Amino acid sequence: MSESSGSPLPTEKEEPASPHSSSSEFKTSTVFVNQFQTEAIPAVKQEATPKGPARRTSKRPGGRARGTHLTQDKAEKVKELRDIGSCWLCAIQRDECTPGSPCDRCYKRALRPQADLILGCDRTKLPDLKDYFIPDVITSMHDTNTLKNFVNRHIRRFTGNTIRIKFTFIYGLPGLDHDVVEFEPKTNELLRQFQYIIDPATGRQDRVEKASPPLGITKFDNEDTKIWEKYLNDLVEHHLDGFAEICFEDEPNDFQFRLLKLMCNLKPEDKNEKLLLREMFRLLMVTYIMGHTVTIPDASREQYLSKLKNFRSAPYGRDCSPRMANRQFKYFFLTLHKEIMNSVLRKLQFLIRSSKGCTKWTSAFCTILGLAMVLEDQQRTIHLVTDTDFAQGKITAERAARQAEDTCRVIDDQFLFLASLFRWKYNRQFNPLRDGVDKKNEKIFGPRAMLFINEVDNLVREKCECLPCVIRLPWNVY
Ligand SMILES: [Zn+2]
Ligand SMILES: [Zn+2]
Repeated sequence: MSESSGSPLPTEKEEPASPHSSSSEFKTSTVFVNQFQTEAIPAVKQEATPKGPARRTSKRPGGRARGTHLTQDKAEKVKELRDIGSCWLCAIQRDECTPGSPCDRCYKRALRPQADLILGCDRTKLPDLKDYFIPDVITSMHDTNTLKNFVNRHIRRFTGNTIRIKFTFIYGLPGLDHDVVEFEPKTNELLRQFQYIIDPATGRQDRVEKASPPLGITKFDNEDTKIWEKYLNDLVEHHLDGFAEICFEDEPNDFQFRLLKLMCNLKPEDKNEKLLLREMFRLLMVTYIMGHTVTIPDASREQYLSKLKNFRSAPYGRDCSPRMANRQFKYFFLTLHKEIMNSVLRKLQFLIRSSKGCTKWTSAFCTILGLAMVLEDQQRTIHLVTDTDFAQGKITAERAARQAEDTCRVIDDQFLFLASLFRWKYNRQFNPLRDGVDKKNEKIFGPRAMLFINEVDNLVREKCECLPCVIRLPWNVY
């Protein structure tokens, strides 16, 4: 297939796409949304708690009556619990947790006749999930020493010939000027690059080897991260709609595109909800950048590259990318990627652990849905990365496929955990996609969130008829 056929921006990885790739019809995000219209929620009996003024006067927020002291044994347990944190089920149900695995409450829960054991007694702190969501398979090539060794192995010297280029980081959105310096290569490795182009007929990504100009970055300093962060923030601020169009351009079904558009239009009034949604959009964009090649705009390619010594236009074609500079740009974006992933997971942990009931449903829903989209993109990139290792002869085809499948399965498992937390937190009290919305809800949520909920509801109803298999997927086992 031809270069012009497809991907908004080619992916610089070194491996072919696998069945896990974005061409798959049933996406994590699709399934996550669709489950809420159909699922039956297991009844969970809330333990009776004292209510009213008596409780407020007799107990401090920590739960112990004034003037009383804990026994030494109890005090040690409280300290231990503070260190390890209460388990998710106790936290969500506002129960008192105990150390141990399982905790006393979870032990009792498991003995109930129709116990829902999917979540188990789990104390995972959500920010810890970032190591699964941004796995070593992706990060190792951007490690400082790996990058230095790569430069030493393939570059003889930088010539000092500096060219300022407006690079494209997300096809169709404004680029950013950056100085790159021509180098004398030691090997031919940096004069080629594997890109993956989507075949619109099959949805598969085909590996194409392209010529890559010998350009890299020579000046590194910490200030650079600020430049990239500002660039990313500007894109989120002013080009979110454009990004939504590009993000799912290759998808045969417009379900995710329309979901993302609804999220872009949500614009919550609450300051913290606004921040969380913005953070989620930053995460989507930086994940997209990490999974795609940084390119030189086709229209100015000749003009820029003619400044190279010994320039010949012949080898360079569409979506031309300096492979060395591309790796270096990703080095900076990876730092941002980790920071933003951490921030989103931290905010989500706070949201799910907070005592606020269903009022934050929309924010939690959008965050987990956004994470599903992010993780689908990550899984596609993981397959490309391991395929590139195979194409370069570093590993066998079987090993590449197994490594990608294993890493993606772990991501699926951890996402299932997040989706289960969401269900435990909200669905017993409130699930607008299942129960519908009424006037009472309108007061709680305000008009914007209500409009969002109604539109998502309509979209899922429209699409669930053409996605009947979704209800049989593992997400719906509960
Ligand atoms: Zn517990
Ligand atoms: Zn527990």
